[in-house]
Amino acid sequence: MGIYLDSNASSPIDERVLAVMVDTYLNSYGNADSRTHNHGEQARITVEYARKQVASLLGINSSEVFFTSGSTESNNIAIQGLEEYALETNKKHIITSAVEHKSVLETVKMMKKKGFEIELVKPDLSGQVNMQEILDKVRDDTLLVSIMHVNNETGIIQPVAELGSELEKRNVLFHVDATQSCGKLVDEIRNLKYNMLSFSAHKLKGPKGVGVLVLKKKRYKLPPVKNIMYGGQQEHGIRPGTIPVALVAGCGKACEIAEIEYKENSHKLRKLKSTLEELLNDSGLDYHYNGDQNYCVDSSANICFKGVMSEALMLSCKQYCSVSNGSACTSKSYSPSYVLEAMGIPIEDIESSVRISWGPETDEIEFRENLGKMIAIAKSLAV
Ligand code: PMP
Repeated sequence: MGIYLDSNASSPIDERVLAVMVDTYLNSYGNADSRTHNHGEQARITVEYARKQVASLLGINSSEVFFTSGSTESNNIAIQGLEEYALETNKKHIITSAVEHKSVLETVKMMKKKGFEIELVKPDLSGQVNMQEILDKVRDDTLLVSIMHVNNETGIIQPVAELGSELEKRNVLFHVDATQSCGKLVDEIRNLKYNMLSFSAHKLKGPKGVGVLVLKKKRYKLPPVKNIMYGGQQEHGIRPGTIPVALVAGCGKACEIAEIEYKENSHKLRKLKSTLEELLNDSGLDYHYNGDQNYCVDSSANICFKGVMSEALMLSCKQYCSVSNGSACTSKSYSPSYVLEAMGIPIEDIESSVRISWGPETDEIEFRENLGKMIAIAKSLAV
């Protein structure tokens, strides 16, 4: 199958996470909201333990953690859940960026149909959006600013730290999609000022199908986010439906492991990135990175191989490397990456670009060998 280099799409589950999940499936099978028996109580203990593990990683209170099915759902709740508050306060202006994940972009598009005014800021070639441009757009009726921490296609870190502080001063709600940074940029997230934050467990070696929406309290009060689904009181009504106890336990364990290991992991990730740089430098290929690497995380790179069609490259090197040329959520469409397009990258460069992303588990020798093969194929394909 070759080496897996698509960690931004999903990461392999950590065996220690899986062990906790198997144990939970076998032994904690009660409904965490059954209050009349010990089995329910045991499941509840498991869920609350996981909530504490998540809270500890993020440096927040566990009462601010709400389990969801993943970032798509968390992003939907964070944005759509503000509708009632927007109507009450007559604040219907939302600012976001053109490079957000579709779970933000499609949600605000739907809100537009409901009469909300949406403003999209575009990044420049660096891949970063301009904080001042966002602040200049803030008005008295601005309901929300939603900006991702790290872009899933480019790995570019957005200026959410500075933005969070500025928006707090202006009393504007701030949502951060931290799907690509959670468990990696741990200290940065702990220091971030935000009202809502989303992530999915499967991006940090946890299971697929579970994630978190953080609703950060301000003077003991949660942000004015309401449920968007109906039918249960679970997660304080924010996310009704039976809690998937084993998934939640897996999410908690993945967070616990990330908290213990993130410093060591960041060294491993950096090492892999320099290996990639070394291979590219020595390759003689005409290539460049998409996005300013000074702002890029150490776990991914988006590279344009001049004169090489990325579709052909990905197919030709399938046996050596699993890489991609865009978000898995939009990969069914063969249209060029909207993220790279928004950055102002010319179409021929977009068509020659691939995303490579790795994790702390990635074996360096295999990485070097298989990427070496991919680079050799790219050379043979270059026109
Ligand atoms: N936001 C970002 C930045 C992502 O990378 C992803 C997953 N590609 C999501 C949201 C959605 O996550 P999920 O598919 O787990 O709901």
